[in-house]
Amino acid sequence: MTSKVLLIVIDAATPRVVCPAIQTGHLPTMRRLAEIGDMHQASVAIFPSITPAATSTIITGAYPAEHGIAGASWFDTSRQEIAYYGDDFWIIMREGFGRFINDFLLRLNGDRMKAPTLFEMIERSGRSAGCLNYLVFKGSFPHRVNMPGLIAALPGVPFTEIIEGPSLLSLGDFVGTHTPTGHKLAEKGGAIHRFGMDDASTGAMLKDLASKNALPEFTVAYFADNDYVSHGVGPVAALPVVERVDKMLGEAFEAAGGLDRFLQDTAVILTSDHGHCEVLGDPSSVVRLDLLLGNFRQAALGKAWQPADQVMICPNMRATQIYVQHATSEIIQKLAIAMLVDPKVDQVIWRSQLTGGTSGYTVLTHRGRVEFARDGASHTVVDDFGGQWSWSGEATALDFDVDGRTLRYRQYPNAFERIAGVLDLDKCGEIWVTAKPGAEFEVPGGKAHVGGASHGALHQLDSLSPVIVAGGAAPRRLPRKMRSVDIAPLCMQILGIPMRYQVGDPRK
Ligand SMILES: [Zn+2]
Repeated sequence: MTSKVLLIVIDAATPRVVCPAIQTGHLPTMRRLAEIGDMHQASVAIFPSITPAATSTIITGAYPAEHGIAGASWFDTSRQEIAYYGDDFWIIMREGFGRFINDFLLRLNGDRMKAPTLFEMIERSGRSAGCLNYLVFKGSFPHRVNMPGLIAALPGVPFTEIIEGPSLLSLGDFVGTHTPTGHKLAEKGGAIHRFGMDDASTGAMLKDLASKNALPEFTVAYFADNDYVSHGVGPVAALPVVERVDKMLGEAFEAAGGLDRFLQDTAVILTSDHGHCEVLGDPSSVVRLDLLLGNFRQAALGKAWQPADQVMICPNMRATQIYVQHATSEIIQKLAIAMLVDPKVDQVIWRSQLTGGTSGYTVLTHRGRVEFARDGASHTVVDDFGGQWSWSGEATALDFDVDGRTLRYRQYPNAFERIAGVLDLDKCGEIWVTAKPGAEFEVPGGKAHVGGASHGALHQLDSLSPVIVAGGAAPRRLPRKMRSVDIAPLCMQILGIPMRYQVGDPRK
C-alpha cells in the first residue's frame, strides 16, 4: 500500500524542548500525530548542522559530500567564489536581497545542487509534488520569479528569472501561489510577513490546499520562524512559535475534514533540520578564529584568494571551515594547535593524508586525538547503521565507547559518518573546527548569538531532531536509530517509488 506524503519541516525544532512539550499536551496536534503513529526523539542531523546543508539533506537523502551544499558558507575553488547563505535565512537585508535571491533562489537550486531532490525523483516517476516555502526546491517545472516592487527596486535584484521547481511551487511573494489547476493559493504576503515566507504564510497555504483536498502526492511545508526566534532567546523561550505551528497544523487538518480523515490517504512526517544549543550570555562565549590565527595571512572575509594568503575562514556559526591555500602537514598542525589555545574550541578535524597519514580523518581536541577511516582492516568497529570503521587513538576525543565490535556514541552522535559526509566533498575546507556547547564563532562584522542559541557543531545539542510519522502508508514504528538522511528514503518508501537508498542504509 502507498499513500500521499505531507512532510512538515520546522526549522530548528529541538527534541529536548519539543518532545516534552508534546508529551505534556502543549502541542496537541503533534501529540495526536505521535499517539496515532510514532515519534522518534533523536534523529541525527548532518554535520555541519546548519540550515542550507541540512535542509538540502532532508530533501535529497544525501550527505553534503553527495549534494554539494557544504554548510552556510564555503569556497568554490574551481570558480574562485564564496557561496554565502548567511547566518540565517532572514538576516538577509544586511547582505542584500539581491545576493540572497541570486545565491539562494537561483544558485543553490541550480548548478550548486548535485543530488536529485525528492521533487525531481517523485515527478520523474509520474507523481505530483509541491513545495510550500521550502528553500531547497529544485525540480523539473519552470516557474517565473516575480519580484515585489519594494525588492525589485534594490540594486542587484533581477526583475524576473525562470527557476525550476516542482509542479506546485510557492515561495512567498516571489514564486507561484497557483495550483496546477489554476487556483490561487491563499498566502500572507508583504514585508510584515517576510514577503510571504513566514510561518503564517506557509500555514495559510497548507490550510487552503488541505481544505480543497488539493495537496499533491508529495508536499513539503516549511516553517522557518522557530529558528529565527530561538537564535535570539533560546529554544525553550521560543516554544510559543512551535505552539503556533501546532495550531496552524490543527486548523489545516480540520479544514480537510479532521485529522482522522486526512490521515486515511496521507502520511504526515514532521521533523526539523537540526537542534539549537544555548550560547552563554557573556561575551567570553565568543570564539574569534581571526585573532587565534593572527599569525597566519588570512584571506579577506568573503573574498577569493590573493597570492600571499595562507588561510580562509568560512564561518558556519558553531562550526567553521578553514581553507588552506598551500596545505602542508606542518601548516595544518600549526593551525590546529593555534585554534586549540582557546578552551572553547572543541574539535579540529581534517583529512589524515594532509598530515602524512594514508586515508581517513583526524580529530584533535583538548581530550586527545583520534583517527578513523572507512572499512579498515584493524580495529574494525560497526556503527548503528552497519557502517564499518577502523580507528586508533583516544575515544574521548569524540566521546565514544567500543563494546566488542559495536561503536557507541554519546555526546557526538554518529560522528564518524557525519564527519566523512562533509570532508569527502571536494569543495570542503581542509579543516573543520567546532565550538564547545555554550560557545559560538564570530567573525568581524558578524554577530554571535550571545545569550541566545545557535548550531552547526557535531554535539548532540546542535544535532538532534524529532521525527513524527502518522497515517497513510507510514510504517507503524520508526527504526530504533534514525538520521536526517533517512527522511527522503522514508518518503519514497511510503510513496512506493524506488530510491538508491533505503531507510537505515550505511552511507559511503
Ligand atoms: Zn535550520
